[in-house]
Amino acid sequence: MDHFLYRDGALFAEDVAISEIAATVGTPFYVYSTATLLRHFRAFDEALAGMDHLICYAMKANSNQAVLRTLAQAGAGMDVVSQGEYLRARAAGVPGDKIVFSGVGKTEEEIRVALSGGIRQFNVESEPEMEVLNAVALELGLVAPITVRINPDVDAKTHAKIATGKSENKFGIPIARAREVYAMAAAMPGLEVIGIDVHIGSQLVDLAPFEQAYQKLAELTETLRADGHKITRLDLGGGLGIPYETGNQAPPLPADYGAMVERTLGHLGCEIEIEPGRLIAGNAGLMVSKVIYVKSGEGRDFLILDGAMNDLVRPAMYDAHHDIVAVNEPEPGVEKHLYDIVGPVCESGDTFAKQRAMPPLVAGDLVAFRSAGAYGAVMASEYNSRPLIPEVLVHGDQFAVIRARPTFDEMINRDTIPEWL
Ligand SMILES: *Cc1c(COP(=O)(O)O)cnc(C)c1O
Repeated sequence: MDHFLYRDGALFAEDVAISEIAATVGTPFYVYSTATLLRHFRAFDEALAGMDHLICYAMKANSNQAVLRTLAQAGAGMDVVSQGEYLRARAAGVPGDKIVFSGVGKTEEEIRVALSGGIRQFNVESEPEMEVLNAVALELGLVAPITVRINPDVDAKTHAKIATGKSENKFGIPIARAREVYAMAAAMPGLEVIGIDVHIGSQLVDLAPFEQAYQKLAELTETLRADGHKITRLDLGGGLGIPYETGNQAPPLPADYGAMVERTLGHLGCEIEIEPGRLIAGNAGLMVSKVIYVKSGEGRDFLILDGAMNDLVRPAMYDAHHDIVAVNEPEPGVEKHLYDIVGPVCESGDTFAKQRAMPPLVAGDLVAFRSAGAYGAVMASEYNSRPLIPEVLVHGDQFAVIRARPTFDEMINRDTIPEWL
């Protein structure tokens, strides 16, 4: 459920007309709904209410300062995967003890910044990382709280580029070697083992892979406890999918996920952490774009938009589907027309949808890409020298630009010409 609905024939974000934002900031742009972000966060919070828990929003999905502040004020912690994300979370007001550091390639500098700045835990992904973390902790005179990310070898049944829990993926430590690696960690004086971490992939539309992974996690918890480790925290990762396509089977609800977590792990008495990204931000955002031309081709018509693959790369990168709707609500019963919906970038990959049924549109009309709040703006680039598009946050009847569109001069002047030229 989101807060992007038609009112009297016009698409609104909460109580603000999309056309009003377009008139103010120009197109294309991203717009996020505060009420939707909070609704998704609270759905998880309630789903886990029966257990001691913390929701660490995976901020790689959408790391705008205003989005982070909105969630942090509601009580969210953050899952970060880089120094930049750590610093962004801190700048948005998130305390260090609510920040979890994930990722396979944390550099020594990243580890130093997070450990000295304050951190809830590191999710360690390899023995070499463990050694570096131990060394940095000893040097700083600190003890680093850790979980080890375990690769449970389950098939998340999602797009290959976002599956992370199979043994062939680069993530985590094979579950078969967990006891050995925990023994190694326990012997390092700069580390304090506090729990176990898993994250098996993104956009999972079925609970079964999660349940398989969590059952393995439950067994491993008992094994490691028997080995003398203090396992008090289980980080379950993110990955719950969202419905990108109306009419498709809906992914499981947070409530069902929560019940499954309680069933598989509740008896262990651990503090539960989850790291949802997409499920919180995905359906809380739209990308709004304008039709530049309607072009008739050989046997097909193209809607050429002012938004492109550099602004929203998911269709080109993951063959992802986004529902695309007209900002002016089509009259009931209007005959749909099939369009290929494309951007202006000089690549055939700059195609958002093929043969998509839309109401008839003309140049100047606005369209909105739904489910664009996660892995949208954060993955944008300035390919084709197209300035990054602005982001807008709506709150009730108010809206604010939360990242402005750079001017062409700002974009160009980021380059410097060496003095020999
Ligand atoms: C990407 C990622 C997440 C978030 O995944 P979503 O599918 O957006 O929920 C959580 N944890 C880790 C370690 C990740 O890499």
